Amino acid sequence: MSEAHSTPLGQSSTPWQSGGPSEVAARVIDAFENAVRSASPKQGLMLSGDTPLFELGIDSLKQLEIVSRIQDEFNVRIPEDRLYDIETCGDVATAIEHQLQAKTSETTTAGRPAVEPTKIRDSFQDLPEYRRLRSRIDMLEAAGCENPFFAVHDAIKGSRTHLEGRELIDFGRFNYLGMAGDPTVNEAAKRAVDHYGTSVASSRLVSGTTALHREVEQTLADFLGVDDALVFSSGFVTNATIVAQLVGADDLILHDELIHHSIVTGSQLSSAERLSFPHNDWQALDEMLERRRNDFRRVLIAVEGVYSMDGDYPELPQFVEVKKRRRAMLMLDEAHSVGTMGGTGRGVCELQGVDPRELDVRVGTIGKALGGAGGFVCGSAALIEYLKYTCPGIIFSTALAPPCAAAALAAIRLLEKEPQRVATLGERAAYFLKLARQRGFNVGSSEGTPIIPVILGSSILALKASQGMLARGYNVPPILYPAVEEERARLRFFISARHSEQEIESAVEQLAEVLEELQDAS
Ligand code: PMP
Repeated sequence: MSEAHSTPLGQSSTPWQSGGPSEVAARVIDAFENAVRSASPKQGLMLSGDTPLFELGIDSLKQLEIVSRIQDEFNVRIPEDRLYDIETCGDVATAIEHQLQAKTSETTTAGRPAVEPTKIRDSFQDLPEYRRLRSRIDMLEAAGCENPFFAVHDAIKGSRTHLEGRELIDFGRFNYLGMAGDPTVNEAAKRAVDHYGTSVASSRLVSGTTALHREVEQTLADFLGVDDALVFSSGFVTNATIVAQLVGADDLILHDELIHHSIVTGSQLSSAERLSFPHNDWQALDEMLERRRNDFRRVLIAVEGVYSMDGDYPELPQFVEVKKRRRAMLMLDEAHSVGTMGGTGRGVCELQGVDPRELDVRVGTIGKALGGAGGFVCGSAALIEYLKYTCPGIIFSTALAPPCAAAALAAIRLLEKEPQRVATLGERAAYFLKLARQRGFNVGSSEGTPIIPVILGSSILALKASQGMLARGYNVPPILYPAVEEERARLRFFISARHSEQEIESAVEQLAEVLEELQDAS
């Protein structure tokens, strides 16, 4: 024991003070003393339970490293929430002791391991979750960056948006086919409001199913080559609430590692085991199924038609082959592929010649290429009938709003009448990709889709590049850590059929200048 342990820890308000330092307290003090000594060997040490960590002269990363090592020594984990309460050496020891006790003690009356009540706080702003968020926002500001999130747009028209009175060329929304804001789609939505009102004020099950809902569902199903469809108030709600109807405790969900958060949420709400496989790697999926298939009653594989961070897509025929051979179900999320992929916008099935009836479940959103807001699932008549009667997102939620249902219906009809919108989108995206590659931008694996990232390698650089583009009249939101790994932080361009060739040329040109300026300044 170090000499500091003969120092009374009695000034400490921690519970282990009465009988002198406990073994845990002694080891905590020891660990901090050693760290302080190796950081500044000459420093005289008299640590006690009350010594604030900030007075130790070691930075917060080092403090965390020590705390982490002590946790390993005692084989416990201090909950993250609790870490934010720790201010002194004594607090570290108390938290460790508490975890040790929780490990051996009975469960609480709620049936879970005991947790230590946190300090009483006056308001929400003192909660660690809030403080964590606040410190991230403060860090942005300290780095001289404006917060790019929740920017307030005053008007949106075609490929342009207005921010604080300035007109910008817009690469920041999923209006792939220009259906949002299209006069025909707007008209249809207005007529629906006149006929049904802005809301049906009921769930679908009770009184919220209108002729419009059934018409959009049948039109979607016909368009996508399946029996029937069911529309929800959002794509997120669709995914978050259908997965648990498809799999349960004896089942496995295997999803692409880049799958959308809504499917992860849906998986968490089911009691199924969840595993991810490497991005677009159907061979890895096959190997996982070879090892694990027989451990489960049912397996649900989930992939996307186009991945929204990277703008690439799966080899669907291979996934279909694997799922058939391994007796699994395949769910395809076409949020970014309906309207954008295949000659007439019918998605990756059309692009790759897959019979849509080979898929077990297909989901999508109305909020991207289809000009409204809402989500849908489609497939066999039995699947839709089952989900209609069981899915909480249908039974316990107000039905899709009439103007959004009407917008989707009008958008699908327009798309059937004007398939050249898909071709124009494809041409514009290919043009952007070609110019970006010519400039040497890192566009990752994007190919043949309207989502084109420019990977910059750091969140700060992505933020500054986004600001540089804003100053030059372009809305290109950054994607930062933790949405992607720090080295993969990026700008992400969403291309629309509404972009002119000239808008695309100027955006690439301006980005090259912005990046050059940032490089010169660094
Ligand atoms: N799935 C994917 C792949 C998505 O990208 C999104 C939205 N970004 C959703 C589902 C959710 O759709 P919505 O925006 O309609 O809630």
